[in-house]
Amino acid sequence: MSSRLGFGQRNNLRVAIRGGGHNAGGLGVCDDGLVIDLSAIRYVHVDAAKKTVRVGAGCRWGDVDHATHAFGLAVPSGIISTTGVGGLTLGGGLGHLTRQYGLTIDNLLAADVVLADGQVVVASAEENADLFWAIRGGGGNFGVVTSFLFRAHPVHTVCAGPMLWELDQASDIMKYYREFIARAPEELNGFFAFLTVPPGPPFPEHFHLKKMCGIVWCYTGTLEHANKILQPLRNHRPPAFEFFFPMPYPMMQSMFDGVYPAGLQWYWKADFVKELSDQAIALHVKHGAQLPTMHSTMHLYPVDGAVHRVGPQDTAWNYRDVLWSEVIVGVDPEPANKDRITSWAREYWDALHPFGAGGAYVNFMMEEGEDRIRATYGDNYNRLAVVKAKYDPENFFRVNQNIRPGKAAQA
Ligand SMILES: Cc1cc2nc3c(=O)[nH]c(=O)nc-3n(C[C@H](O)[C@H](O)[C@H](O)COP(=O)(O)OP(=O)(O)OC[C@H]3O[C@@H](n4cnc5c(N)ncnc54)[C@H](O)[C@@H]3O)c2cc1C
Repeated sequence: MSSRLGFGQRNNLRVAIRGGGHNAGGLGVCDDGLVIDLSAIRYVHVDAAKKTVRVGAGCRWGDVDHATHAFGLAVPSGIISTTGVGGLTLGGGLGHLTRQYGLTIDNLLAADVVLADGQVVVASAEENADLFWAIRGGGGNFGVVTSFLFRAHPVHTVCAGPMLWELDQASDIMKYYREFIARAPEELNGFFAFLTVPPGPPFPEHFHLKKMCGIVWCYTGTLEHANKILQPLRNHRPPAFEFFFPMPYPMMQSMFDGVYPAGLQWYWKADFVKELSDQAIALHVKHGAQLPTMHSTMHLYPVDGAVHRVGPQDTAWNYRDVLWSEVIVGVDPEPANKDRITSWAREYWDALHPFGAGGAYVNFMMEEGEDRIRATYGDNYNRLAVVKAKYDPENFFRVNQNIRPGKAAQA
């Protein structure tokens, strides 16, 4: 690893770090530069007694789920099992267990990091605590992480899956969801989506390729309790279709893998959201109804519960007081559809951005420039710049949502 960093430095090359290769902005690779591909570092060691998991930086989340499930444990991650552990963790990590157990970084205990000067160090609460603070949300700016140590939680069978409604009910469902999720127990996670129904099982044929709205649930308790919690929603607006039942957690984690295979063309825009007003909902319904392709979608992920119990300065992730992370995703396999997916996502985002909290989740951003990155880290940006100056003063690791090395503010 150190020799590859040295080669990059001697030849003044741009260097990209590739974990799972899922970054939509393509920041895991670069042209005319050096790609440090970590995919060969693929191991997972579970310590069932301590409820910790050591994960090699080339793993995908499916590798982690596969290993931990045998012990009735899970690490909070995302919603697709093929996403890389590296990029998702270093940016924050939002998924089905967020409300109950926090962001992925809230469950990171330590990491091994190769610095720009070739030194290998541990980042944890006890060692290099400034680096540990920065890598929990600051992305791949500070070095190459070769292994992660996570805390795991007792999660085995979950009651989970989507409920779908017709688009003419979207406004009402969004309003109901806005109130419902805020009061729901943290064991229940549910993200809202505009989507096109995939043309295959389990969806009935008459829904295939139909634009609809939906909520994807994941509850870590019993089916009896889940049904008790969700019954008022079913009574309020019976879903047109639902696929909700007890299943092994890894099944939930990989439920949508087939819809998003490797090789698709992605363009996404994002914001954090504190308040979902009626006016914002009306705009969501307008733009959500115009999904340009089958894979395109809009998700609102809850960012509350356990996430709010960590302070805004405790990790680099600054927005601890928002309620949702919104992502507008234009996706299609066909290069000729590039303009269709990008213009839809931009118009949708332009309409909703005035209702956002300012910044966005870095893992849902493209290359949008320094202002957006500063907005995302808010009050934490200057501290991140100081840590960057200490560990990577030449900004060697810059193929990322880049934080430039900076000085501490004068007192
Ligand atoms: C289909 C799909 C579903 C997604 N779902 C979710 C979700 O549910 N929740 C969520 O939070 N995010 C989700 N994401 C976003 C995802 O977190 C980011 O795209 C993330 O960058 C992917 O990580 P990766 O390792 O696969 O990416 P890569 O493309 O390999 O790397 C992306 C970035 O991370 C840095 N990086 C990666 N590994 C390391 C390392 N070991 N050391 C230092 N830097 C590293 C790289 O420098 C690069 O800038 C999803 C993305 C896709 C495409």
